[in-house]
Amino acid sequence: MIHAYTDYPLSQLHTFGMEVCADRYVEYETVGELRLLLARLKSEWADKPWFHMGGGSNLLFASSRYEGTVLHSAIKGHELVAEDEATVCLRVGAGVVWDDLVGYTVSKGWGGMENLSLIPGEVGASAVQNIGAYGVEVKDLIVAVHTLDVDSGKERVFTNEACEYAYRHSIFKTELKGRYVVTHVTYRLQKSPCFKLEYGNIRAQLELMGGEVSLESVRSAVIAIRESKLPDPKKLGNAGSFFMNPVVSRSLMEAIRLRFPDIPYYEVDADNVKIPAGWMIEQCGWKGRSLGRAAVHDKQALVLVNLGGASGADVMALSDAVRHSVKETFGVEIYPEVNVVTSK
Ligand SMILES: Cc1cc2nc3c(=O)[nH]c(=O)nc-3n(C[C@H](O)[C@H](O)[C@H](O)COP(=O)(O)OP(=O)(O)OC[C@H]3O[C@@H](n4cnc5c(N)ncnc54)[C@H](O)[C@@H]3O)c2cc1C
Repeated sequence: MIHAYTDYPLSQLHTFGMEVCADRYVEYETVGELRLLLARLKSEWADKPWFHMGGGSNLLFASSRYEGTVLHSAIKGHELVAEDEATVCLRVGAGVVWDDLVGYTVSKGWGGMENLSLIPGEVGASAVQNIGAYGVEVKDLIVAVHTLDVDSGKERVFTNEACEYAYRHSIFKTELKGRYVVTHVTYRLQKSPCFKLEYGNIRAQLELMGGEVSLESVRSAVIAIRESKLPDPKKLGNAGSFFMNPVVSRSLMEAIRLRFPDIPYYEVDADNVKIPAGWMIEQCGWKGRSLGRAAVHDKQALVLVNLGGASGADVMALSDAVRHSVKETFGVEIYPEVNVVTSK
C-alpha cells in the first residue's frame, strides 16, 4: 500500500534530529507502487524536487523545510536466491533495517556482515553508500543491486562491478545520483565464517567477553565497541562520521610528518596514503568545541553533533570552519561524507 502525507515532520525520521518538515512524504511497499510514484513525480508532482530517503542516518537537511516530495521504501523481506556448499545468496528488500538483517544472518550462522553490526540505516542505502566498518565494506558482500530507472520505470540490475565501488563510494552517489531507486540488494554470505578480528579493538573486546570467537560473539563485541565510542543519535543528534578520510599523496604526508612526527596513516597504494580526518580535526583543536548549537563530538572528532536546537545551517557553518582549519594546518581538503539535502 502507498501511504502519502503532506506537511510531514521528518524530525523523528533522521538521526541529526533537526526540526524538518517535508511538503510531501510518501512510503511504498512494492516495486509496482514505486513505479506508479515515479510516474507521478514526472506528472502531477513535477513542479517540485524529490529525493529518496532511507533511515535518515547519513543526511543533513540544509533547511527546516523540504519543498518537495520525499520517497521512502517499505519494501521488506528476504529470499534465499542461490546456495552452494560454501555460500548463500540472499535478496533483501531495500526497506529492511540494516542491523535487523545483520542479526538475522548471524542467527543463521552465515558470515560476512558481523563486523557491520549496529550501523544505522536500511538495506537500500547500504548499497548506495558502500557502508563499512572494522575492515569490512559491504561491497565485499554485494552480488547485485536491483533498481528502477527513475526516467523509464524499468528494472535494471547492477552487478557489483557496475556499481563502481570504492571507499564510501558507488556510482549511485555520483554520475547516477537520483537516476535509480534501489529496490532490493543481493548479498553473498559464507557458511563457514572467515573472521576479521584485527581491526579496532575487536580482539581485545572478545578477550574481555571471555575469548570465544563466533558470529554472535563478534557481533556482540562490535556492538559493545560502537556503543562505547559513538554518540547514540537518540540522545545526541548526529550522522556518524561527518567527513571522509582523505587520500593524499605520500609526498604530502611526508611533508606533514616533518611537523607532526606521529601522524597516523594507512597505505592505499605505492603513491598514496589515507590520513584519518578525525586526527587532523583533533590536532586543529576542534575536538569538543562548538559553534552555536553544533559541536565536534568530544570523544570522536570525526562526528559533528546537534547539541539540541541546531539548524542545518549551524552544522554547515561548523563543517566549513573545521574544513578551513584542516586546510590551513595540513594543506589537505576534507569533504563531508554526509548527504546534504536541499530543495533549492
Ligand atoms: C551513529 C552513526 C554511526 C554510523 N556508523 C557508520 C559506519 O560505521 N559505517 C558507515 O559506512 N556508515 C556509518 N554511518 C552512516 C549511515 O549509517 C550509513 O551511511 C547508512 O548506509 C545510511 O543509511 P540510511 O538508510 O539511513 O540512508 P539515508 O541517510 O536516508 O540516505 C543516504 C543516501 O542513500 C540514498 N538512498 C537511501 N535509500 C535509497 C534507495 N532505496 N535507493 C536509492 N538511494 C537511496 C539517499 O538518497 C541518500 O543519498 C553511521 C551513522 C550514524 C548516525
